Amino acid sequence: MPTFAEAGRALEQNLEALRKPGILAVRPGYHIEAGWPVGDPVVVALVGAKKGEAAAYGLPAQIAGVPVEVREASPLERLRATRPEVHAELEDRTRPEQHIPDFPFERSFAAPPQAAAQAARRPAKPQIPYRPASPPLDPVSGSLTVICVASPDAGWPALRDFFGRVQQKLVVGMYDFTSAHVLAGLEAALTPVGPHTLSLVLDHPTRNPTADQSDEQTEQDLSGKLGGALSFAWAPVRSSPEVTEWMFPTAYHIKVAVRDSAEVWLSSGNWNNSNQPEDAPITDPDPTHAAETFKNSDRDWHVVIAHPALAQLYEAYLLNDRETARQAQGQAVAAAELEAFAEQSFDLAELSPAAEARSPHQFFAPLTVTETMTVQPLLTPDHASDGGGMYADKMLELISGAQHSLYIQLQYIHPSNQAEDGGFTALLDAVAARAAAGVDVRIILSQWQNSQWLERLQAAGIDTGLVRIQNGVHNKGFVVDHQRVVVSSQNWSGPGVLQNRDAGLIIDNTTIARYFEGIFLHDWDNVAVGHGRRVGVTALDAAVAQIFGWEDDPGERVPALIPPELRPVPDLTLTPLRLAIPRVSAPPPRGYPPGIPEFRYWSAAEAAARGAAFWRQLLPAGTTWQVGETLNMLLDEGEDFNAFYDRQALNFFHGTAGGRTVYSGESPDIVCHEEGHAILDALRPELFDAGTIEAAAFHESFGDMSALLAALQLPSMRTAMIADTGGDLSHSSRLSRLAEQLGWAIRQSAPTAVDADCLRNAANSFFYTNPETLPSRAPAASLSSEPHSFSRVFTGAFLEALAGGFRLASAHPGEADLQAVSRDLARLLVTGILAAPIVPEYMSQVAAAMITADAGAEGAARGKYGDVLKSAFVRHGILSPQSAAGVAAFHAISVAAARPLGMAVDGVRELPHIALSAAEYGLGERPLLVRAPSDPRRFAVSAAAFGVGSVTPSNAEHAARAFVEDLLQRGHIDIGGAGQPGIRIVHPHTFKTHRLVPSAEGLMLARILFDCGFHAMCRP
Ligand SMILES: [Zn+2]
Repeated sequence: MPTFAEAGRALEQNLEALRKPGILAVRPGYHIEAGWPVGDPVVVALVGAKKGEAAAYGLPAQIAGVPVEVREASPLERLRATRPEVHAELEDRTRPEQHIPDFPFERSFAAPPQAAAQAARRPAKPQIPYRPASPPLDPVSGSLTVICVASPDAGWPALRDFFGRVQQKLVVGMYDFTSAHVLAGLEAALTPVGPHTLSLVLDHPTRNPTADQSDEQTEQDLSGKLGGALSFAWAPVRSSPEVTEWMFPTAYHIKVAVRDSAEVWLSSGNWNNSNQPEDAPITDPDPTHAAETFKNSDRDWHVVIAHPALAQLYEAYLLNDRETARQAQGQAVAAAELEAFAEQSFDLAELSPAAEARSPHQFFAPLTVTETMTVQPLLTPDHASDGGGMYADKMLELISGAQHSLYIQLQYIHPSNQAEDGGFTALLDAVAARAAAGVDVRIILSQWQNSQWLERLQAAGIDTGLVRIQNGVHNKGFVVDHQRVVVSSQNWSGPGVLQNRDAGLIIDNTTIARYFEGIFLHDWDNVAVGHGRRVGVTALDAAVAQIFGWEDDPGERVPALIPPELRPVPDLTLTPLRLAIPRVSAPPPRGYPPGIPEFRYWSAAEAAARGAAFWRQLLPAGTTWQVGETLNMLLDEGEDFNAFYDRQALNFFHGTAGGRTVYSGESPDIVCHEEGHAILDALRPELFDAGTIEAAAFHESFGDMSALLAALQLPSMRTAMIADTGGDLSHSSRLSRLAEQLGWAIRQSAPTAVDADCLRNAANSFFYTNPETLPSRAPAASLSSEPHSFSRVFTGAFLEALAGGFRLASAHPGEADLQAVSRDLARLLVTGILAAPIVPEYMSQVAAAMITADAGAEGAARGKYGDVLKSAFVRHGILSPQSAAGVAAFHAISVAAARPLGMAVDGVRELPHIALSAAEYGLGERPLLVRAPSDPRRFAVSAAAFGVGSVTPSNAEHAARAFVEDLLQRGHIDIGGAGQPGIRIVHPHTFKTHRLVPSAEGLMLARILFDCGFHAMCRP
């Protein structure tokens, strides 16, 4: 298959075969279908009115294997081919978006040679050198307040408010200022004139179709109203009719205003009606009218930053522009005719046939962010220290650094053939390289990126499959890796990137990047049109489909402090531990933004698949879900603050608190916690119904440990946690804080029911106390016998063991060490669970079994974690010092030896019942049957007592009785019809985790489910 350049060389070597009557010009290109370039390169022969294919013109069907395609020239292509001097005049005066591309290897056959020469000899306006202001364009760091705004949604109200804050002076550089309401708003803000001044440098582009007045009229009106308070200069632009010399070749394209040397407004948009429509959709009470405004207006991004140093930097350059423009002021020769000609030719440019004016899905309100961040000013045509353009340099660095995603929204991309535009070509090469490297590259361009420009873009190495066309995009914005965002006025053309006056900034801040990314993805999904006029999954999406998932939890903040990241599409069908999400069809896998069901679907699926993948490698062969081969996930079972595992499915709900709706299934912490219940149920099904507080608490702890371990399987999470904790993972961190978002929601109604910053924190100092002696409920700050509360003792010890294991991994342990330690400890946990007998003091048995398993490990792993495990369990009182010291005497056990006790492989082994007196609880005369924690003790260990010594273990019956009384006190047993009305205790409004099942021998206490803990903690 020939490349574009090979097609060009074939053309050059066969010029005479192509020079036929009726052929205006030839160039390499691509076959076009529905406005999009498709397939391999072709040689395009442009004709006036097309009368047939190649043979009709005497052309070969192909040259050097490259097909020859006859195409009718567009009006501008025809003009350039036949009257290049007129075309050059016109191009000088029309807006760049209306220009037609120069293709490499293009040859015109139609123009007389002298016409081309004449075009090159046009009388030139003298050029004057650009002289920059003195302040260096260094980045600014610190706590900044940034107002983020998009047009047409909220552009004008934000600009009007900015005008309203002007106290003394406003300094402006603007390309186009033709809107009556913006002019009136500005004049109102600067009245009375006395204390107010305005400095304005204005370009003079061809009048746009939405203009209320010309730029001259704007200047005249301001001059009349403000008098001496106005300092004005026309920008020295080659095409401007208002100047006699030029500094900027095609545009003074900046859109910046600085008020009172304190606050800067910077935008991709002008002060015209299409960029700043008066009826801002966000405040429009009529949705139909708002949608119409959107369709007829332009997409632009703006930021308003209150930061004196940054404001003064831009102000210095704007004032310098005004001063250096003075010498150029004066009417250009023969400008009026050219102006009229250009205006008449406004409609000559072809638009992309893919463009459609589509209604938006939503409008975006401004977001004010006050956070620590770094802002890099970008000014064109200023130079970097190496002599290149500073915009081009900084942008190349930014784009080349994209690791996950690169979202680009530009009015157009006009690749250049000029060697002097190498700095711009390098940006295009970098975009192509990131796409080739698998980065999620998406490019939205406007209707001005017509078929020829898409061909030209493809020829420049950018896969136009990455492109969608959005009607009315005027933006020049970029979002990289959900972390850095560019708001700017630089168009992507040689002059735009390197020579014109333009301004922008790179903001390194997740919250701001996420705001603009949300708008970008909205446009991509709802407004932009991809190849073949399809909206939706493109070939690219299918080839490298990725979905967004949270790292561990959405967190308290909206938008989230830690953005979701792109991950491979999860496969739920892997066995064992197959998962399914029944009743809803999977949305096409792609990067949905948070806040919509499609996002939640993939976020939940990804978290559950990650958890299953982790445990799958550690469970004994043959282990599978208690429910069978497939465990269902029910993502939204209605309104409730809950999530539970009930031996049928993982159930999730949604609830509203503090004005926000929280979905328990959206949190990977909660998904992996519930999945953890199912994993432990697969490993030790007897625990499900074991009548002992510690077993129930251990189930909760295992859920939390599962959440923690699943989060650590993400490289990004490991790296972040090592950094956040300074390498000591026992510190409170995002890792240790479980289910922050649900915790926040619960605190809205029950402030002390959960920790102050999450649902439960694994970084804790809770010390073991026999749960039979603890109150059945307590605020989160204290330990109670409630299983979620008591679970924190074991989870706390596990996190400490993990932290200790990580620190001894090497002298400078890294994220790979952390992953290895997480696997090692999870393996010991599985072994310990299989080996530990179910007795009242279950936690100490698991602890001893883990230490013993470590001591019995093979080879270099033998005893590796002995010290950190002992330390962690002793520090949390799960093992008394005496027990831990005696651990050397334990018989080393292997997984194989442990299995017979666990029985997970051989089927369910039920714990025996013991009979308690139901009458004591008002439940009638028949005995209450409880599965007692009555395994034979395997490890002669005990938990620490307060003060000195060890806790004396209670017997199975005592433990079962304590368990039942606890449940009754909290009202968690559905007693059905048992007992005598008036005597029995009924809690009509509490959440039931257990029920009483009548049998021949009595009333059997049976567990219904493990719930997430909200009801357990908050309800009476
Ligand atoms: Zn739970």
